[in-house]
Amino acid sequence: MTERFGFQLNATDGAARTGVISTPRGEIRTPAFMPVGTAATVKAMMPESVAATGADILLGNTYHLMLRPGAERIARLGGLHKFMNWSKPILTDSGGFQVMSLAELRKLTEEGVTFRSHVDGSKHELTPERSMEIQRLLGSDIVMCFDECPALPATEEAVAESMRLSMRWAQRSRDAFGDRPGHALFGIMQGGVTPELREESAEALKSIGFEGYAIGGLAVGEGQEAMFGVLDYAPGFLPEDKPRYLMGVGKPDDIVGAVKRGVDMMDCVLPSRSGRTGQAWTRRGQVNIKNARHADDPRPLDAACTCPACANYSRAYLHHVFRAGEMISGMLLTWHNLHYYQEIMAGMRAAIAEGAFAAWEAEFHATRAQGDIEPL
Ligand SMILES: [Zn+2]
Repeated sequence: MTERFGFQLNATDGAARTGVISTPRGEIRTPAFMPVGTAATVKAMMPESVAATGADILLGNTYHLMLRPGAERIARLGGLHKFMNWSKPILTDSGGFQVMSLAELRKLTEEGVTFRSHVDGSKHELTPERSMEIQRLLGSDIVMCFDECPALPATEEAVAESMRLSMRWAQRSRDAFGDRPGHALFGIMQGGVTPELREESAEALKSIGFEGYAIGGLAVGEGQEAMFGVLDYAPGFLPEDKPRYLMGVGKPDDIVGAVKRGVDMMDCVLPSRSGRTGQAWTRRGQVNIKNARHADDPRPLDAACTCPACANYSRAYLHHVFRAGEMISGMLLTWHNLHYYQEIMAGMRAAIAEGAFAAWEAEFHATRAQGDIEPL
């Protein structure tokens, strides 16, 4: 166990990479998928169950936690790891993105953002300095710079102006973060879909210097083709020897395409959110467990999956508990979805290490293309 934050790249295959991020709270095998624990819980999952799916790290949301129960309260109670009973690494976002998407009466200035809580209407301010303070109070292992992400559609001029503000905030975040051995601060590249702006942003971040670099401003409704278009060149602007994190991605095929293009870390609410709405992600694509075709089906969701939902329950049972509004429905489907996502990551890590990513990817797409098993 290390006392410092580090990243070791073990193998590459084309642009795809596999390695290990080391932190005092444990290792993170990359490429890594981070389940989202918005309000100090991955919804419908016990933390030990999340760990059992193979997750090495969770994501926590600064915006939600600062409003409820409050960062100072979590700090008094021993920090986020203790509070939510998760001893492995935690990455927290900066709050910036969710202020833009959830909060009311936002006012953006050079200093930061003032807004009203979507929970109770109370007034708050987030600045780079306050975001660093909140993430320190939470005890986050990987802290994200406070940044601004313009709402789409936006003109190139607006994207450039927003990116340059985010770069000034990145410097303020670095200054406010201070010297915290064992903890990392990640910069966030912006610049929309314009290569010159992406490069300018990357250069600004590299001159400040961070322990890792995120690719921000994607997965905000631009579509997979546009996202992959940016990922075809943007990771190349970032240092090879630091982890690269694509924020808010995504569906299984988004994740595979991002790793293929050089991304090391991702997070998304999709597997857990889908699990609560009766949607399962399997090797053979998406399954809607609400569908009447499952009502008499004694087969598991995925015969090859070793998760508890597939090992111990039929499609007929999963269909029944969803239709009956039983809590176990969300629990089992979320477990399956998170397990499947971690299987994708483990499969990619092994394939990259063997120099066999292309074959793995071809099989991934071919299996999905078969579609779900035939109804009985
Ligand atoms: Zn399963």
